[in-house]
Amino acid sequence: MTPLEAELRRMIAADGPIPVELYMRLCLAHPEHGYYMRRDPFGARGDFTTAPEISQMFGELIGAWAAAVWQQMGAPRTLQLIELGPGRGTLMADALRATRSLAAFRSALSVRLVEVSPMLRQQQEQRLADAGVPVSWHAHMEDLPAGPCVAIANEFVDALAISQLVKDRDGWHARMVGVKDGRLAFAVAPDPLPGPPVAGAAPLGALIEGRQDGPVATLARRIASQGGAALVLDYGHAQSGFGDTLQAVRNHKFADPLVDPGEADLTAQVDFAALARTAERGGARVHGPVTQGAFLHRLGIAQRAARLKQNATPQQAADIEAALARLTAPEQMGELFKALAITHPDLGAPPGFDS
Ligand code: SAH
Repeated sequence: MTPLEAELRRMIAADGPIPVELYMRLCLAHPEHGYYMRRDPFGARGDFTTAPEISQMFGELIGAWAAAVWQQMGAPRTLQLIELGPGRGTLMADALRATRSLAAFRSALSVRLVEVSPMLRQQQEQRLADAGVPVSWHAHMEDLPAGPCVAIANEFVDALAISQLVKDRDGWHARMVGVKDGRLAFAVAPDPLPGPPVAGAAPLGALIEGRQDGPVATLARRIASQGGAALVLDYGHAQSGFGDTLQAVRNHKFADPLVDPGEADLTAQVDFAALARTAERGGARVHGPVTQGAFLHRLGIAQRAARLKQNATPQQAADIEAALARLTAPEQMGELFKALAITHPDLGAPPGFDS
């Protein structure tokens, strides 16, 4: 039994089943045993691979996107380039390298990384040691100083905890994690939630998810009041719907989310419609979502791949082609992954969203 499971069982024995939302939050970010706190989950030897780890093209195009948005903002003298959940720091390193020759943009920059994991923060420090621009780390969005910003969040929102609600005759009940027959098991809270019914027309047994998207709400309010834009990239659906999307991945395979808590990555699909509502409530404007494939093609990923292939060995050229397909092909990441931009209401559509 993992140390986290032992602790969860003690909590459940003392106070009864815990909400799915708390379960997910503890699995990922328990200060001692949380999944992101103790390990480097990325790459071939890790549990999963993300777009910036697949190819340098991803971070490079996003660097160019950030510089273009800064121009669109009127080239403010100072700009905070924020990244939420920077992982290994690869995206930011590629973005900064790609914009090295843009002197005015570079001199405006201070890079601010929002990261919960001390272990990943160390990796980011190493990765960005010679970034050539000031870089600082923050545990929460709220800790950032004021000012215009361009923010990036790749596969960050999917790791924010979700709650799950199940429809019964007498209303919506929270989905919980308890212990049954000696194992962790899903359960449903006996009493319905108070308050107005959500999604009233849902059939019996329907399941809806809601996300703790506080960091996005904070970001949207900040952009609405101080200017700038954010780019959110993640896997998910464009329209809100019903169904359980909680997913565990371990060693590049799907796993049972209730087995070995703290040892697998837990995520749930991003509901882009819900995220857009959160951003609009904060006073910001939303563009998209567009599919990741369409977004990267509009930013010129095919041309970038062709350029890289000019100086490549046949093996490297094949790798570049494979990475291009993996990032953009509809049956790979091209369609399930989507991009959403959150901007100041006066900014206009950023590159990639101006179809
Ligand atoms: N963007 C990276 C990493 C994605 S994994 C990439 O594309 O490769 C999710 C990242 O978000 C990790 O760095 C994780 O430690 C961080 N994270 C998860 N929840 C967080 C939270 N609530 N606040 C800040 N960072 C968080």
